[in-house]
Amino acid sequence: MAKNNRGKGIKKLPNSGRGECPVCHRTGIKLLNEVKVGEKTYKVCKTCKSVAAKKLSA
Ligand SMILES: [Zn+2]
Repeated sequence: MAKNNRGKGIKKLPNSGRGECPVCHRTGIKLLNEVKVGEKTYKVCKTCKSVAAKKLSA
């Protein structure tokens, strides 16, 4: 699916897909990327997507 993290597609998510990123703790940011750490899945912002796995497991 193309662009499924943009526009109308995320409106139906709770809070329009926005919230606090567990990595950078910015609020009101779109949490569109799921990062698996062990058995847990975290939703992180796109900025943190690449570094999240390292940070969350530390
Ligand atoms: Zn973040």
